[in-house]
Amino acid sequence: MQDLAAIETPDAGLSDEIVAAFQAIVGPEHALSDPDQQTPYLNEWRGQYTGVSPLIVRPGTVEEVSKCLALANANGIPIVPQAGNTGLVGGQTPHRTNTEVVLTVERLKRVRDVDPAGNTLTVDAGVTLLECQQAAEGAGRLFPLSLPSEGSCRIGGNIATNAGGVGVLAYGNTRQLVMGLEVVLADGRVMSDLNTLKKNNTGYDLKNLFIGSEGTLGIITGAVLRLFPLPAEQATAMVALPELSNAIDLLGRLQQRVGNALTAFEFIPRLMIELDCRHIKGARDPFSSAHPWYVLVELSGWKTDGTTQELLESVLMEAADEGLLLDAVVAGSVQQSKDLWVLREGISEAQKPEGGNIKHDISVPVRLIPEFVAKADARVAEIAPTARPIALGHFGDGNVHYNIIQPVGADKAAYLALGPKISEAVYDVVGELGGSISAEHGIGRIKREKLVEVKDPVAMSVMRDLKRLFDPNGILNPGKVL
Ligand code: FAD
Repeated sequence: MQDLAAIETPDAGLSDEIVAAFQAIVGPEHALSDPDQQTPYLNEWRGQYTGVSPLIVRPGTVEEVSKCLALANANGIPIVPQAGNTGLVGGQTPHRTNTEVVLTVERLKRVRDVDPAGNTLTVDAGVTLLECQQAAEGAGRLFPLSLPSEGSCRIGGNIATNAGGVGVLAYGNTRQLVMGLEVVLADGRVMSDLNTLKKNNTGYDLKNLFIGSEGTLGIITGAVLRLFPLPAEQATAMVALPELSNAIDLLGRLQQRVGNALTAFEFIPRLMIELDCRHIKGARDPFSSAHPWYVLVELSGWKTDGTTQELLESVLMEAADEGLLLDAVVAGSVQQSKDLWVLREGISEAQKPEGGNIKHDISVPVRLIPEFVAKADARVAEIAPTARPIALGHFGDGNVHYNIIQPVGADKAAYLALGPKISEAVYDVVGELGGSISAEHGIGRIKREKLVEVKDPVAMSVMRDLKRLFDPNGILNPGKVL
């Protein structure tokens, strides 16, 4: 396994022979060394990571991926797998060493099969998440994985990061939505486990090792995805709460009354609504007065008779009678529903103009979310008393996106310098409450060192053993995760 010190040592790139060998595999037009052509693959969208690479390779078939890896493995060339380049933890960006070849699966674009009877969709790894959803919908089915980045991220990247999003509450995260995988191993062998069967007890469940492995164990080239019946109608409401703890009772009541029809339960604090209204075109506060907390609720129904909205209204009325909520706005049309979702979907964009932001993607047991927010706010206030914490996210999954925006008018660089101290305080609270330092974005580079601190040492050592088994020469995404 390569060590990080070696990775960070500047180097002269690849020999002409190796470049020619990659060109012979993928074609010269898909082996990019021109800096302008390389730019989109070396920069992530926030500008937080910028890599340097001698070559970007864009194989067009599984066979070409296999040949690229065999070549890299035989010559000890590090490979950084990339799909849509929307990852948030630096996993898809090469280090600045000019030694790591980026291999993008973006040209693997086939929808291989849709089977509505078996509820499966088989696709290449480079199909975007949006295209997967559309292929399913074309067959009258739902592929429920849904992220704000769905137009750009690709299913290979979603699987490699075990992506979450707003559909997890009802349908599970990516791991629950993958039935089979095709993976090219570090030495170039193609492992085909494109299982479409619901029942198949034939040995170890190898696919689960690759789901969430962030490009460190193999390159995913194809996948069988699980489909669901397509909802016929949806009902959406924005609910105002006096306390965050009321969300626990409201969630429990909704789950008891509607079961899996509850397809979203997203919590948003007052400050976020104000930032939405300030910075997002078309965003407006649905209530006439301000409230401390909000929950965006969505129910899905499989009949088109309006009963979904009636059900939502009746449960919210019961909750109001019991004092669980202050007010609620139920969307009366598709447009009104979209208007409410703007307040959730605009959150990244609306925070940006406010300056420096120290972000965390954590999870704790659902019942402890209010305690997490109270404790984390207090610890952050000890370090940066006028900073502005924003806790929001997928309440039903225990997933809190805990972002701390700089004080109004503060110096951005000086504020961001507090990042390590603030994050340490936040992760301390996560640890005290039995939570996770990464709910859905992964480890990548950002949390590599923290992982060693929080993960069971035996589990860490088994992970290292697996890495050695699958990638003995350490060519796959070195310096990420482990
Ligand atoms: P990339 O960014 O290209 O790669 C991500 C990781 O996977 C890297 O480590 C890379 O090496 C590895 N990888 C990529 N392709 C392969 C492959 N074929 N085989 C093996 N390894 C591979 N994430 C969530 O979970 N939930 C959210 O709600 C969410 N919201 C987001 C909102 C915005 C605005 C943005 C920009 C991102 C968001 N993300 C979210 C993060 C990101 O979109 C997801 O992590 C996504 O799954 C990454 O997919 P990608 O195709 O862009 O992968």
